[in-house]
Amino acid sequence: MEWTLAVLAFLLGSFIGSFLNVVIYRLPRGLSVVWPRSSCPQCGRTLSPAELVPILSWVAQGGRCRGCQAPISPRYPLVEALTASLFAAAALLRPSFPELILIWALIALLIALAFIDIDTKTLPNSLNFGGVFLGLGAAYSLGYPRAFPEALEAGLMGAGLMALLAGYGGLLYNRLKDSPREGPFGVHLVHLAAMGGAWGGMWGNVGGTWLGSLGLLLGLLNAALNLRSGRVWALHDGLTLGLAALAPLAALGLGLSPLGSLRGMLLSAGGLALVGMLYWWARQPSDKVEPEEEPQSGYVSVMGYGDVVLAGFLGVWLGFPNLLVALFLAVLAGALLGLIARRFGGSNQMPFGPYLAVGGLVAFFYGEDLLGWYLAYLGVG
Ligand SMILES: [Zn+2]
Repeated sequence: MEWTLAVLAFLLGSFIGSFLNVVIYRLPRGLSVVWPRSSCPQCGRTLSPAELVPILSWVAQGGRCRGCQAPISPRYPLVEALTASLFAAAALLRPSFPELILIWALIALLIALAFIDIDTKTLPNSLNFGGVFLGLGAAYSLGYPRAFPEALEAGLMGAGLMALLAGYGGLLYNRLKDSPREGPFGVHLVHLAAMGGAWGGMWGNVGGTWLGSLGLLLGLLNAALNLRSGRVWALHDGLTLGLAALAPLAALGLGLSPLGSLRGMLLSAGGLALVGMLYWWARQPSDKVEPEEEPQSGYVSVMGYGDVVLAGFLGVWLGFPNLLVALFLAVLAGALLGLIARRFGGSNQMPFGPYLAVGGLVAFFYGEDLLGWYLAYLGVG
């Protein structure tokens, strides 16, 4: 029975993988993913049904177009085989409905995001926020993969962690230089929110959750001010991020809650980062990737906000400790492969999305095991 389901899942996965190839190719070009039917990018000939059979058609045609003999990238059958294998593995690990359908959706979204990031170094908002809202909707209606409050909190924390990694990383990399101002929603607001959340959240038991959301409120007020005045009001990154980092230490010294301070910092920063990205998405709903403008300020950002939303997406699906496992695996793999790539003369501008996707999937299935194993290794568990 289980193996029947796994075989069916493999077949379904291969066809979904074939559709993902279309999504990966068309979404960043601003094209419709459902129309028209696939054609050869070289000669433009519409593919026949036989040429659309996943994996096998590529093998049967020897990796070439039947019309013009142009080589077809082996990546197409590889994406199909990868999707099919992961769908089958998921069916063996979690053979129950409707959970399995949600896991398949998670796999499909992460594969599309990872390959689009490899191609374009961007993560489309539609897929990123699709994952956030699908996860929150499932949590709300089914209590799966996480209970709703946990999903929401871990989603905000994931986005907050990544936004602050980008914030502090950027500050260090650019030697304390302020990042370029952008209105009405720029990274400065996220850093202001982090500061407010860190100083509000330290009052742990005395309504710390509410005071911790103070940062989010501050950031939103700043955005409203920007919108009303048509200017960009911002405090220097060094000031907001510096004061944010001081808060947990101050909490420790004052006998208040350092963990509450960190929690408020992450929740407020994550909340503002996601609201800001929703704002920009509403302003620019297309996923079409425009040619990048040269940064004029000479400021180098260490991470894009697509990664911030993707970390929020993973938080919603994984819950809190597993989210940390996923980020840890992603940073570890990214650092290792980045070093290897640099050793062999590759570029050091590697997209981070694929690592997040792999770390997220591994942590989704094995997060508890890995965490237990690691704690036992430390002698804590
Ligand atoms: Zn052709």
